[in-house]
Amino acid sequence: MIRRTIEQIAQMAGARYAGSSKDMMIHGVTKDSRLPSAGKLYVPIIGEKFDGHDFAVQAVENGAVASLWKKGHEVPEALANIPLLVVGDTLVALQRLAAAYRSELPVRVVGITGSNGKTTTKDMTAAILGTTYHVHKTEGNLNNEIGLPMTVLEFEEEIEAAVLEMGMSGFGEIDLLTKIAQPDAAIITNVGDAHMQQLGSREGIAKAKLEITAGLGDTSVLFFNGDEPLLKAELDDMKLPEGLLCRTFGLGSRNEWSAADIELEPEASTFTVMYNGEPSEMQHIRIPVPGVHNVSNALAAIAVGRLFGVPAASIAEGLRSMKLTGMRIQPVRAFNGAIMLNDAYNANPTAARAAIDLIAELDGFRRKWVVLGDMLELGPDENRFHYDLGAYITPEKANAVLTFGPLSEHTSAGARTQFAKSGAEASVIHFEEKEKLAQWLADELAPEDIVLVKGSRGMRMEQIVQALETR
Ligand code: ATP
Ligand code: MG
Repeated sequence: MIRRTIEQIAQMAGARYAGSSKDMMIHGVTKDSRLPSAGKLYVPIIGEKFDGHDFAVQAVENGAVASLWKKGHEVPEALANIPLLVVGDTLVALQRLAAAYRSELPVRVVGITGSNGKTTTKDMTAAILGTTYHVHKTEGNLNNEIGLPMTVLEFEEEIEAAVLEMGMSGFGEIDLLTKIAQPDAAIITNVGDAHMQQLGSREGIAKAKLEITAGLGDTSVLFFNGDEPLLKAELDDMKLPEGLLCRTFGLGSRNEWSAADIELEPEASTFTVMYNGEPSEMQHIRIPVPGVHNVSNALAAIAVGRLFGVPAASIAEGLRSMKLTGMRIQPVRAFNGAIMLNDAYNANPTAARAAIDLIAELDGFRRKWVVLGDMLELGPDENRFHYDLGAYITPEKANAVLTFGPLSEHTSAGARTQFAKSGAEASVIHFEEKEKLAQWLADELAPEDIVLVKGSRGMRMEQIVQALETR
């Protein structure tokens, strides 16, 4: 974590400090007044519902020795003897402090953005780099304008590499994060349809991801998903730092980093890494996560590993033994032995298609069921997105489609049209109640079947998995 005198911290954060204890040491920062915070600087964040300033006294009781403070905010008497660093905006000061700290460290930073696969790719990259370097990675999903600077301020001086996840929901956010992180390598995992509401179009989404280049320097490398033509097109129109290298990865064989001999299993995948169309020395690479989209994520992580000089054997070993942050597609056994793939953490059209492709490619199951709930926050075209998702499911991919939620009526309409077109018997059923869907599935499910369950967080589709698990 950051260790500096309060005077240095003030300067780095762009704060005014008029006190006399200039040499007092600060050991780290905290924004949660409830946690033990011995020696830390408290950062009062002003949110929609809470103002962190109201909890500064508690933070001090828990050990904080100083606090950032918004100019003009009244100072409680209990803080009269606590050094306060006065700033116009405490969040901006936190971000400035993190950017300044990052600039002082020789650490090599990897920044990862994209519509889907950020956390997974972060974990893969950290697993690879961790075989060779002392690495710090984003904890869980702390990828926003608060979590990223807090993560940077956790860096120890001696770390050699850091892997940071960068999330966004609108323009300007990745720009802010990348300028704090100043990445040596950046990854754009993909361009999906998430946050269409705020960004207007897929071009808009691609542009927003490409903001990551704003924090890159002349010696940085950008790895982007070459299967996504929009990224290449937008990149061609951009003014980039001179010397910045742009490299592609993806499933298409024309990418600089691609894969061959892909073998997919329910819980893992193996492949050969191809470099410029030729097999590399990395063969039979095994990743403990399912789905071809994860092969693409792994290629990005591998490319960064090579850039940082990690030996091929270490890359293979790092991936084989990696630990994932709260795994997203989770295989769960149903009461009768059938496999359910619980992917109810979130959903948008791209991620849903990836999950459907995953189940479509699995061999050895008698029947494949796709259970879909609503995808939320998709903007004015939400009905069409649902219809198109349904139409994406052909009888070759799944034997039956079960849907739940008002928007998912459109999913089932799309699927019904698609199934009818193929002349297949239409096994598409829409349910108004989740319990009825679970009951229906329980009655029909055979032990040799596999079920994918997916929907936005708010739909709580995991309840279906839980119902079938314990029956
Ligand atoms: P969040 O925005 O919630 O932080 P994330 O970008 O970190 O998400 P992950 O948590 O790694 O993404 O994965 C979430 C889901 O996205 C996975 O369960 C999978 O269904 C899907 N996914 C992962 N990688 C890709 C990819 N490269 N392309 C399409 N979908 C993907
Ligand atoms: Mg994430």
